[in-house]
Formats: sequence, C-alpha cells, structure tokens
Amino acid sequence: MAHKLIDNYRERGARKKLVEKLKDKGISDEKVLKAIGKVPRHYFFDETFWEQAYKDIAFPIGNGQTISQPYTVAYQTELLHIRKGDKVLEIGTGSGYQTCILLELGAKVFTIERQENLYNRTIQVLPHMGYKAEFFFGDGSKGIDEHAPYDKIIVTAGAPLVPQILLKQLTVGGILVIPVGDEKSQKMITVLRVSENDYEKIVLDTFRFVPLVGEQAW
Ligand code: SAM
Repeated sequence: MAHKLIDNYRERGARKKLVEKLKDKGISDEKVLKAIGKVPRHYFFDETFWEQAYKDIAFPIGNGQTISQPYTVAYQTELLHIRKGDKVLEIGTGSGYQTCILLELGAKVFTIERQENLYNRTIQVLPHMGYKAEFFFGDGSKGIDEHAPYDKIIVTAGAPLVPQILLKQLTVGGILVIPVGDEKSQKMITVLRVSENDYEKIVLDTFRFVPLVGEQAW
C-alpha cells in the first residue's frame, strides 16, 4: 500500500475545498482546519479511489473498518483542544489519518489498533509519509496503563459506555473524547478530569462509528 507520494495542485485544491466545506459545517478552530489542509488524505486510499479522498465521507479501509469522515475527525479534534507537546492516547488507529492530524497539531501520539492487518499497514504508511507516533497493537478499550497519564484521550470507535479505566489514565485537567451509544448511533461525549476524583461530562451531537470491541467495550 506504500504508493508514490504524489501531492500536486489537484489534490491540494481538493483539500482546500474540503477545508471550506468543514468551515461551512461549523468547524472553527483555525489550527484544526490548517492540519486538515496539510495532511494528504488521498495517501490513505488505494490510487483507484483517490477522487473519493477529499469528499466529506467515511470510506472503507478493509477489515470491515473505515477511515473516519473528515468532519468527524475535525469535530473530535476540536474537542480535544490540543496544545503543542500534549501527550495523546488514540484508541482505534485505523488508517492513521486522525493520528497525522494530531501530530500536525504538535501532539506526542500513542495510538493503539486491535486489527493486526490495519496495524501492520499503518506502521509502514505513516513513517513513509514522515509522521512519527508510538504504535501499539491490542485492545485499547483498557487504555495503555504503562504510558499513562495522558493529557488527552480520543476514542475513534463507538463504545457502549465510558470505560472508567480510561478516566483514571487522564491527567488532572485532561480531556477524554468518546462516542457512546448502541451499534446504530452514538453521542459524542467529552469528560474533563477536574481533580483527582471529579469529572465533568458533556453530551454533544450524534454520530455513527464502527464498534469499539474489547474488554471494556462491546
Ligand atoms: N482514527 C481512524 C482513522 O482516522 O482512520 C478511525 C478508524 S475506525 C472509525 C475505528 C478503529 O477502531 C478501527 O480500525 C477498529 O479496528 C479500531 N478498534 C475497535 N475497537 C478497538 C479496540 N478495543 N482497541 C483498539 N482499536 C479498536
């Protein structure tokens, strides 16, 4: 899948249009929009599907999984309020597109995927593109305790509930962003760790994700 890295006026133009579309849909964080404008999303697609890459749609990436819709990626990223140097845990590496957006924002990213094929592909594709993250293979529904705490945790698959174990892996002041619901639809939830034992939860818009599968999930 490590294809030629061609990114010229056609792709860059399509990316600009995508950024405008996301602005129209309500994404307002300039840094997030800039990151979307920078990451060549078509590199995550087979060359025969390149024209799909800058549509605001999710797309199959194999193993029954999807690369998230750009709007969803931008929406979740905005909620994380990434600051340069933030230590971020991403649960559900998938294609690695969201990982690249976090890296563009200056985060140090720990990312975990439970599907071996996707994991094997992404650990090759991202370095090939010049992106460096810490990749893990396994069940991320339990987080990754060895590297905790994290300033931010993002879950990119739909969970039946907020795994309490993830809350414990946040720094005080840290934020968890996670879609929670049933198989058909989930509400985006943010949880802020206010102090050692206090958390503030906000329930936001409805989305549809592939399921988070694991010990603390489906
Ligand atoms: N961030 C991804 C992207 O930009 O392409 C989104 C990928 S997809 C919507 C969600 C991913 O979560 C899938 O690749 C799926 O295999 C993975 N996943 C589901 N349950 C998981 C778990 N318990 N631990 C790690 N990854 C999981």
